Amino acid sequence: MSTTSNPDLPPSVEFRSRMDSAQEALSRHGFAGLVVSPGPDLRYLCGYDAIALERLTALVLRPQGAVLVVPRLELPAAEASPVLGLEVDLMAWDETADPFRAVSDLFGERATVGVEARMWAAKSFALAATGLHVVNGDELLGSLRLRKSAFEVAGLRAAGIAIDRVHEQVPGLLRPGRTEREVAFDISQLIMEAGHVGVDFVIVASGPNSASPHHAVSDRALQAADLVVVDIGGTMPSGYCSDCTRTYAMGEPDPAAQAAYDVLQLAQDLAVQHVTTGVTTAQIDVAARTVIAAAGYGDLFIHRTGHGIGLETHERPYLVAGDDTRLLPGMVFSVEPGIYLPGMFGARIEDIVACTESGWERLNHRSRDLLAVPI
Ligand code: ZN
Ligand code: ZN
Repeated sequence: MSTTSNPDLPPSVEFRSRMDSAQEALSRHGFAGLVVSPGPDLRYLCGYDAIALERLTALVLRPQGAVLVVPRLELPAAEASPVLGLEVDLMAWDETADPFRAVSDLFGERATVGVEARMWAAKSFALAATGLHVVNGDELLGSLRLRKSAFEVAGLRAAGIAIDRVHEQVPGLLRPGRTEREVAFDISQLIMEAGHVGVDFVIVASGPNSASPHHAVSDRALQAADLVVVDIGGTMPSGYCSDCTRTYAMGEPDPAAQAAYDVLQLAQDLAVQHVTTGVTTAQIDVAARTVIAAAGYGDLFIHRTGHGIGLETHERPYLVAGDDTRLLPGMVFSVEPGIYLPGMFGARIEDIVACTESGWERLNHRSRDLLAVPI
């Protein structure tokens, strides 16, 4: 039974089992405990979407139990989160107290504690200054988050539907003379209207700018024959993120651009079809890269094929040479090859894909053809 008021969050039993898994893993990692400050790991473990500020908020997991250390002025916010239903002791600290000492006192002398990789350096230094042996807990937490539960996959599926709805409306925003910035402003509004609670990024890269994969926006005005790479994402009320790229053409595309695009589309499709249990993430990267290289564009595919996605837009696993994560059902990641000709044009196609018991499931469904916008 859920004790949370947010229907988008999983039931308490799911949070509790995540914390149990983390607690069970402590001894394997040689940790006396984990200290988790506000961010995606805290949200993953207990559903508390706390603001990261200079005052210490931290979930302290030890084999014998869980304690949420929280500034007294934020106690109401903590109590309104799912934490109350999770057998977590709340320890409120007053303005003149030393919360780092309070955390340290939960452990023995020189105890080894893991902290999440997103903890502010100032906080991990302050914990270390109390005498704790502070180490990187990212492997423990990252490996838990690597495989999504059915609830998490459903959250990512809903995020995919929401961002598809935005892409559906993008062609209507693309007109010669409008700037990338103007288009991006409209897209930001549509991302919110589609059900996200936050806009994470909006890339509108037109003409030569489309050859820069992480171009954001500029005041360049769209022109006839431009390719326009639109890569957009936001966060849903569940905390799960969307991320989807489509490439549009302003009127009929140049034959050279269309030819490169056809190769890209084939590469993206073949890479998705390689997704199945037991294949490594590096092998998915190779599947995309082989098609692009065979057509002579190998040097122009300058980034990895994809990244995991969940409570963060970019998280493990990474689809890149050297990442030998073996796919398992519940792993969710982008498949987003691109081809970039500096000074001319670029194109990228990105879907979020879930590894399933029977193979794969795309979570984005808009056409992957190069869509010629009438001008
Ligand atoms: Zn993207
Ligand atoms: Zn992406």
